[in-house]
Amino acid sequence: MTETRHILVLGASYAGLGSAHYFLKHVYPQLPSDPKISYKAILVDPSSKWYQRHASPRAAASPELVPADQVFLDIEPGFKQYGEVFCFVQGKASSWDPEGRKVVVQRADGAEQTIAYHALILATGTKTYSPLFSLQGTAHTDIQAALRTLHGQLTTAKSIVIAGGGATGVEVAGELGETLNGAAGWFARRPSSIETEITLITNSSTLLPGLRPDIATQAETYLNRVGVEVRYSTKVSSTHELPDGRTKIVLHDNEQVEVDIYIPTMGAIPMSEYVPDHLKDEKGYVKQNNQTLRVDAAGPRVYAIGDVGTYSNNRIVDIFNSVPVMETNLQRDLLAAHTDVNARPVGQDRLYVGSKSEDLIMIPIGQSKGVGVVYGWKVPSWFVWLIKGRDYMVPKGKANIDGSNWAKEMPWKVKEL
Ligand SMILES: Cc1cc2nc3c(=O)[nH]c(=O)nc-3n(C[C@H](O)[C@H](O)[C@H](O)COP(=O)(O)OP(=O)(O)OC[C@H]3O[C@@H](n4cnc5c(N)ncnc54)[C@H](O)[C@@H]3O)c2cc1C
Repeated sequence: MTETRHILVLGASYAGLGSAHYFLKHVYPQLPSDPKISYKAILVDPSSKWYQRHASPRAAASPELVPADQVFLDIEPGFKQYGEVFCFVQGKASSWDPEGRKVVVQRADGAEQTIAYHALILATGTKTYSPLFSLQGTAHTDIQAALRTLHGQLTTAKSIVIAGGGATGVEVAGELGETLNGAAGWFARRPSSIETEITLITNSSTLLPGLRPDIATQAETYLNRVGVEVRYSTKVSSTHELPDGRTKIVLHDNEQVEVDIYIPTMGAIPMSEYVPDHLKDEKGYVKQNNQTLRVDAAGPRVYAIGDVGTYSNNRIVDIFNSVPVMETNLQRDLLAAHTDVNARPVGQDRLYVGSKSEDLIMIPIGQSKGVGVVYGWKVPSWFVWLIKGRDYMVPKGKANIDGSNWAKEMPWKVKEL
């Protein structure tokens, strides 16, 4: 009888999709052909569609600019190319038993399924406080409902507060500003008429902490250009939904502001509820070896990839750089354990080298401007528009789904010590 060994991937976004495709394209073909042992990749996600989260600021501003059928993409068809070696389970991992090497999944059809694994890849990411900007560990229809509500509110809104001066807050403010207020003309600093008062509140003394001050100043100029005002060193203490659907915001100094729409963009929450506490840090990120990407305390052949792991700076670029590293170590582990499941690989592991905040970041601000840095070099606004702002890279998103992002193996050569 053939033993089927499951390579179980939890989460089907940038990290989980990349891990599954890379495994099927480059690792699986190099595993021994053995009549007694076969391997199968199982990908689990509560959503049948992947949300192009990087485009969510524009999707929030207008369904015309980013239509739903372009920003939500079906997961399963991209994996048809692999046949029986792959299986997608629409469901949510609800608990994980590292000793028993199994995960319990609450399937979308209501059934509970326990999946035993030979190797486990945790790629369940982070969620944003607002359901507009990420999957929440539920179906994509929840985001679509939140987007519909916002789009309805935008037709009459006269005041909007966005909280958070990071990249998401700046992008969302820029998109809403240009959509609702238009842009300033030549030599003007602000649009000729403001339809909707938009305020970006940050508790910091600068926008985009982590980037250099001149970039932050440029970002504010571009926000002003689309009718967005920035309020610094101001913290939101609490918010209360009013009976008429508006929001009362209480600030750190007890000042109260009532607005038509309130959008929080600060922070992210790891989606790791199913992970036992001893495997998480105090914020809920999965503790791992930040170089090999293994979760050593969870037993052999367990890895964390993408936002959910401690190695990540919560950026897609970290995922693109780390998937080949994790997969090399997975392949080494699988080959070593093929005949003896307790055997570990000998020799060097492939190691991940972390990224810096100024390695690569592009922040569109409205539909024609933006700020960015590429490997420490500040790039001009037109460059940010060309690479990201003109279409928010939505057409390129398909490459995550069909695996063409990972068509080429990124090989590794063991360095002589
Ligand atoms: C508005 C916004 C714009 C961004 N723009 C950029 C950008 O331009 N460039 C950049 O580098 N980064 C950007 N980021 C960051 C980037 O989106 C994240 O780094 C990336 O989404 C992380 O991918 P991931 O696969 O690790 O997890 P996520 O994208 O968070 O996806 C996690 C997946 O796991 C699933 N899941 C959750 N819980 C479970 C469970 N229990 N069982 C099974 N599945 C589960 C979810 O449904 C989801 O599909 C942006 C973030 C935001 C919020």
